[in-house]
Amino acid sequence: MRCPTCKREVGDPTEECPRCGTELKILFELLKNAEYEFKRGCHFLRSCEYQKAHDSFLKSNRIKHTKRAEYGLTVSSTGLGNISATLSILRRELSRNA
Ligand SMILES: [Zn+2]
Repeated sequence: MRCPTCKREVGDPTEECPRCGTELKILFELLKNAEYEFKRGCHFLRSCEYQKAHDSFLKSNRIKHTKRAEYGLTVSSTGLGNISATLSILRRELSRNA
């Protein structure tokens, strides 16, 4: 990962950036949490618990917006029968790539 302040590649989680001293520990914890929520969402999808999956993907996506968390949101919305949410996500995706 890169330091958000000076953009130096820092690699392994460290307390602070060796170049500029930015506190990185909290950022790593947040990213770890985003990954944890994403994996939880996948787990809930596998057991067809769409509401729990949706909540987890939403938490993950709020911490760090990713394509795969967005995709998880789309799938769990569909599982919940929320076709309009699914369509708006797919429409947004289409216009982004137009
Ligand atoms: Zn730095």
